[in-house]
Amino acid sequence: MNLLKDPFISTTQGKVSLKTLLTSDDDFQLQYYFDEIQLAMLQLLASLTTVILRPSLTDLRSFLANGVTKQQYDIALAAIDDQWFEADCFMQSQKPANTKFAEGPITKLISGIECGGSQDALGLFSEVKHADVVCSDCVHVLNYNLHMNIKGECFGPTGATGIRGGGAISTLVSGKSLKNTILANTIALDYFHKSAHLDNDAENRFMWELPPSGDFYLAQKIGLARGLFALAYHIDFKVVDLPCECDVCGHPSSQSVSTFSRVKYTGSYGSTKNGREGSAGWWLHPYTPRSVKEDGTYAVCARDQHWQSWQELASYVIGKETDKASVKPAFIVRQYTDGFLSPDAINLLIGGNIAKKGSIMGRVYDLYSMPSTLPKNLERVTLVIDVGLEQKERLSTAFNKIFGIGYDKNFVGGIKEQAMYRFVANAQQIVQKILLDVDRKEARLLRKDATHQLQREARTIFTEIQRKYQHDLPLFKALVKGEAVLLKSNT
Ligand SMILES: [Zn+2]
Repeated sequence: MNLLKDPFISTTQGKVSLKTLLTSDDDFQLQYYFDEIQLAMLQLLASLTTVILRPSLTDLRSFLANGVTKQQYDIALAAIDDQWFEADCFMQSQKPANTKFAEGPITKLISGIECGGSQDALGLFSEVKHADVVCSDCVHVLNYNLHMNIKGECFGPTGATGIRGGGAISTLVSGKSLKNTILANTIALDYFHKSAHLDNDAENRFMWELPPSGDFYLAQKIGLARGLFALAYHIDFKVVDLPCECDVCGHPSSQSVSTFSRVKYTGSYGSTKNGREGSAGWWLHPYTPRSVKEDGTYAVCARDQHWQSWQELASYVIGKETDKASVKPAFIVRQYTDGFLSPDAINLLIGGNIAKKGSIMGRVYDLYSMPSTLPKNLERVTLVIDVGLEQKERLSTAFNKIFGIGYDKNFVGGIKEQAMYRFVANAQQIVQKILLDVDRKEARLLRKDATHQLQREARTIFTEIQRKYQHDLPLFKALVKGEAVLLKSNT
């Protein structure tokens, strides 16, 4: 099987090839049981499309408007060395001599499935009880996901961290069809090189052709194709000729894979503490927003299990400056906000793991509607977010009144914390829903809608707490004072 030629992509219409997906008018839907894998697949396919089409901004604009023809695909394919995309070598470097491989069940590569006895390496939330065998096509997306998202602690002492760091958030542009989405996340070479500031002699060979060496993998020496498929491990999958029904894509297969083995590379990327201290630099990963601080650049991660993406949506689209850090939108978003893509309505997909040490605490997979003329009407998005943050702040101030009445801090703190979590979680759906109208409504009306709905949500939550404690006089009185803060209207 060759990833650039053969059908390995699981869709609701069966397996298709990248060529079919990009050149056909059928609207395919990916079929993977886990949104984590679905998210990885979108990035893998857009990265493969980047290395095969190698478009400039101008080419990409044309592909987005007119699609890719079979002939264009074949010409592009003929120009590259496709042997590196064969199933038995893609993203799998040769095992070094005299090294012991660590073996593990394939389940360990499907984040979110509880697996292993290490305290620091548990996925805790998936409902799927058994995912222990996959087809030979799906190992590639699992492998890609491992190298792009792995945080060393997931594998305990034998772990290594990948090029963009563990638990990094991905922001992708989501188009009206799968084909459109893949093309919208394809990287324009000329624009990337302008942004990434790589050295002229940056290495472009894949890491399974030429593994990285040395103690530090310097970001400016890693070319685009090499970085898009960067490795953190020598890895090997044991493919056996036994039929199975794949636990990742659901398709029957004549081959199955249930174990893999790995040994980590010895050097460090700039995504790790070691790498930062060795001035390796963070490689400009096109799908990840980054936070630039005094001591280095970090991939933006989801923070804790109560985190909701809406709160930071504005910084993922236009960036944010504080005195401690500056958040820069992912390259792929800037490629869009610079205004060269088709004017079709798009969505922004924010996804990733919420990780703590090696454990997966939760997943993020949120879709937001964006204005079709994104650069022009961006303020419509930020004003909706700002209303949400303002209501959150107001709710927090209102609850602060319960701290001054001599009650145990943990008790009143717990009341506030629960209420705030609830607001932030419910606001997630409200914000996503309001943004569906981002193209149809003018700014004033959007703001009015957002204020009305988010205010109502904050007040409902507050009133329920008030009702709950109506017989506790000191607490109730403090809440009445808080209510005055909350009701002070600014609309
Ligand atoms: Zn499969």
